[in-house]
Amino acid sequence: MTHYDVDLFVIGAGSGGVRAARMAAGLGVRVTIAENRYLGGTCVNAGCVPKKLFVYASRFREDFIAAKGFGWSLNTPQFDWSHLLAQKNQEIHRLQGVYEDLLNHSGVTLIEGQAHLLDVHTVRIGERNISCKRILIATGGWPSVPNIPGKELVVTSNEMFALAKLPKRILIVGGGYIAVEFAGIMHGMGVKTTLCYRGDKLLRGFDEDVRVFVAQEMHKKGIDILFNTKISAIEKNENSFMACTDKNQQLEFDLILYATGRTPNIAGLGLETLGVELDAMGAIKINDDYQTNIPSIYALGDVTNRLNLTPVATAEAMALVNGLYSNQPTPVDYDNIPTTVFSQPNVGTVGLTEKEARNRYPDIDIYKSVFTPMKHTLSGLDEKTLMKMIVRRSTDKVLGIHMVGSDAGEIIQGMAIAIRAGATKAIFDSTIGIHPTTAEEFVTMRKPVD
Ligand SMILES: Cc1cc2nc3c(=O)[nH]c(=O)nc-3n(C[C@H](O)[C@H](O)[C@H](O)COP(=O)(O)OP(=O)(O)OC[C@H]3O[C@@H](n4cnc5c(N)ncnc54)[C@H](O)[C@@H]3O)c2cc1C
Repeated sequence: MTHYDVDLFVIGAGSGGVRAARMAAGLGVRVTIAENRYLGGTCVNAGCVPKKLFVYASRFREDFIAAKGFGWSLNTPQFDWSHLLAQKNQEIHRLQGVYEDLLNHSGVTLIEGQAHLLDVHTVRIGERNISCKRILIATGGWPSVPNIPGKELVVTSNEMFALAKLPKRILIVGGGYIAVEFAGIMHGMGVKTTLCYRGDKLLRGFDEDVRVFVAQEMHKKGIDILFNTKISAIEKNENSFMACTDKNQQLEFDLILYATGRTPNIAGLGLETLGVELDAMGAIKINDDYQTNIPSIYALGDVTNRLNLTPVATAEAMALVNGLYSNQPTPVDYDNIPTTVFSQPNVGTVGLTEKEARNRYPDIDIYKSVFTPMKHTLSGLDEKTLMKMIVRRSTDKVLGIHMVGSDAGEIIQGMAIAIRAGATKAIFDSTIGIHPTTAEEFVTMRKPVD
């Protein structure tokens, strides 16, 4: 029998890699993990966690305005970006420590450095060659910026988490969730914010009503949105940047953020030499067992570019490890995965969009409600909430639930359980609401829209 130095070598200590490494080690597998940048990966260091902390910070501005409507008087609040940055860094440092402890306590060997594959059973890191029975690639994704003149002048989401100072005016290019979330964050922090997108609606792939509604709400708050506009070049002035559009506009900003997508992080891994199959986007192709076309090499998470979310990467990690090393397989069900855009207001969604449902079934009922949440009856803020439910008439099954409004993420998590359990509209109707809440609207929508 061939002897290997380790049973499983994991490349990348992000959401998926760390979960796979420590689960496998917990089952007695000899695991080594390599990380070249930061423990915890994108989510902890340049994604979900710092982003959500920034969202919290940015929401205070409206809360201060709303407070007046409820009888509070405040001196002019001041915002200190460097204080927030220091607090955020401290929290991330703490989380990195948690990840390190988790790996140590589960017996995983951690090696800091850039790993690449020498052959289908050997990883090279630093000066060491390590032979491994299996190799798991969990190297995540990386922001991509289109090739336009001046692309070196822009920042990506990575740099947004460490800006030396806040700009006065920012241009955010993109229409996906990262662009939309940063628009809310920057606007909330008092930065004059312009969002520029080449399409005619934000958040491609989401329900059409949601796409329209969220843009209207963002616009009402004071974010400029330029639809159907492409940036053709970026130039630097003495103290600012000019963005030239395909409509011959010259727009001046202090900072330009490109949130125009992420590409699988495979650079330098040596995959091409070994013949590991990639798709047209450079994502690693895998089968249902997360195995590449090379039997000893596996991949999961963002580097496979399927559903690029932290809980998906961790679920895939558990499915892989349980499939390989335990008798209790836990396959991932990719249907009805809920997701939230931490825009302001939030978007929360689970299940089919109206378009998907109508393409699939002939008998669809739509329940929809747009209203002013109770808080804004006194807050002085003009913010509306959208709630939408998609039901198949013949089975009464709820196929999709979509919301734009405060705490949509928190609300939709519960809705996702109901949808996964196969809840019918009748079950929703017979559920007693919690009053007074926004969420109760989901159990009191009685009449489908025409
Ligand atoms: C701005 C932003 C906001 C986000 N917000 C959310 C959110 O709110 N909710 C959500 O669910 N998801 C969110 N995501 C997505 C989420 O961060 C990813 O889906 C998740 O981190 C993917 O995990 P992963 O394990 O595949 O990769 P990652 O977490 O990216 O980990 C990959 C790791 O591999 C390391 N690595 C790469 N190459 C090598 C190498 N050759 N050798 C050694 N190490 C290597 C990298 O340094 C990295 O640490 C967000 C992403 C971004 C960018």
